[in-house]
Amino acid sequence: VVTIGVLGFQGDIEENIAATKQALQEMQVEGNVELVRYPEEVEKVDGLILPGGESTVQSTLAAIQRSLPVIKKRISEGMPVMGTCAGMIMLSRRAFDRVVGDTKQKLIGNLDIVIERNAFGRQNDSFEADLSIGMLGKEAFKGVFIRAPAVSEVGKDVEVLAKLNNKVVAVRQKNIIGTAFHPELSGDSRMHRHLVKMAIDFKHKNSS
Ligand code: GLN
Repeated sequence: VVTIGVLGFQGDIEENIAATKQALQEMQVEGNVELVRYPEEVEKVDGLILPGGESTVQSTLAAIQRSLPVIKKRISEGMPVMGTCAGMIMLSRRAFDRVVGDTKQKLIGNLDIVIERNAFGRQNDSFEADLSIGMLGKEAFKGVFIRAPAVSEVGKDVEVLAKLNNKVVAVRQKNIIGTAFHPELSGDSRMHRHLVKMAIDFKHKNSS
């Protein structure tokens, strides 16, 4: 039975739990979805979601609980992870903001991208846009953007999954997926299903 964790400090935790449950149900896969905060909880999951919210708050709390290094270690061992919005910021190697420059926040760093925070505007800039994401099939994916970041540089092992207005808004680097938008808010569980599938493969590889 596959276990998917949702990092449970701040942000849209419940929405990600619901979207993952929906994904499991649609795939007819037996699985658990668990809120994780502490290192020993991070050690037990087969896949992890870092939700959207406020990245500085989330990474500060995760660092206090000493979970950040464990998340980093497990990702480097191949555990699938999906960071959405603030979660993608946490995964990146560098984050800056056009107003303040380098944000000096704690980052997990496994995803070889540079992030521009609030790349679509600072305050009320929330919007939806149809995205074409080849990995998910032909049908457009509704991206929900809320004070969203964008990816301003990608490393050589990073694959661009989606762009919007010439800005990179979704990427993949092996077991790591990052999205600038909130797939848990679109009512479309395809991104979550993709993560579940990666987690099942990871679990099988580890137990055989
Ligand atoms: N602007 C937020 C941050 O920098 C991300 C916004 C979001 O997750 N919706 O953490």
